[in-house]
Amino acid sequence: MGSPKLIIFTAPSGAGKTTIVKHLLKVREDLAFSISACTRSQRYGEVNGLDYYFLSVEEFKRKVSAGDFVEYEEVYENQFYGTLKAEIERLKSLGKNVIFDIDVKGAVNIKKFYGEEALTVFVSPPSPEVLFERLKSRKTEDEESLRKRIARARIELGYENKFDVTLINNDLETALNDAEMIVSTFLSEGVEGLKKNRYGNFNHQ
Ligand code: 5GP
Repeated sequence: MGSPKLIIFTAPSGAGKTTIVKHLLKVREDLAFSISACTRSQRYGEVNGLDYYFLSVEEFKRKVSAGDFVEYEEVYENQFYGTLKAEIERLKSLGKNVIFDIDVKGAVNIKKFYGEEALTVFVSPPSPEVLFERLKSRKTEDEESLRKRIARARIELGYENKFDVTLINNDLETALNDAEMIVSTFLSEGVEGLKKNRYGNFNHQ
């Protein structure tokens, strides 16, 4: 294997990127998940140090001042999320390719920093309406949080053309297969390989 690469999945909340990332981690042992730091409260079933490093806002800001993040965002008011430099180094030193599940601005920033070493994949819902319905039926949020997520998703949908590949998540089975294909092509042939091979639903820039 060559030097480890970075594969960044990004999408509006509710487009299904977390499901896709979890699937890829299950089928490919050469991938490892970049565990982000965040300040939102832990959801039922989430494990500190596995899903996220859950920090207080004070701890998070201390790390920002110390220059510990490669990127961070206040994704929702007073809810900070960020990628720790040490986390990427930890996974690369294990010889793993690093896979990310982060917001659109974080994805743009990591790509800027790592260039051709990184692939950005935008997971798109078949339509904005489908996305809003998925968010509503998820039931992990209260009314206020749901309203914020829908407002943000509207903005994030406009970012699609900033990424290397768009993966449309209409039928989940197809999206999972496409995701496997995208990752294996990128790891063997780089971004150029993806541009050369035009599969099903993805549009290359
Ligand atoms: P959630 O609260 O649903 O877990 O995540 C909210 C949003 O924050 C999602 O779009 C998620 O991908 C994003 N996110 C998670 N980790 C990071 C990170 O390290 N950096 C940035 N910029 N966004 C993140």
